Amino acid sequence: MISIQVKCPHCGKSLMSAVNKLESAPAIEVNLTYAGKHAPLYLSSLYGSYKVQTDMNIPVGKVAGFRCPHCKADLKSTRKCDACGSQMIAFELKAGGQVQICSRRGCKKHVLEFQDADSELQAFYKAYLKASK
Ligand SMILES: [Zn+2]
Ligand SMILES: [Zn+2]
Repeated sequence: MISIQVKCPHCGKSLMSAVNKLESAPAIEVNLTYAGKHAPLYLSSLYGSYKVQTDMNIPVGKVAGFRCPHCKADLKSTRKCDACGSQMIAFELKAGGQVQICSRRGCKKHVLEFQDADSELQAFYKAYLKASK
């Protein structure tokens, strides 16, 4: 599996955690907001993995807020999830383009978008997605 590197689309700072790892790859760190509470959320940076780690207990099917730990900007995107209609969360890929994930707990929908149509990364993901179907 490939590890993706993401940054905040608002302040441009890296969202890769320097200390926390998941599945032996650097974790993606965001601030999670749910029911008026905040807690850090770590997501696996391995593409295709849904492993997350947080102290916050969000029931499956509930929608949480995602914020940048640096500038506190809301990471929600303008796109709605094709699968459940919830707001998608957008991260910027360091290699260019975006990865979006669904904000609903338990929904595994995610989307990758690339700025550079010829990038090697895109070719890789296409091959990967085909192989995982
Ligand atoms: Zn930011
Ligand atoms: Zn969804």
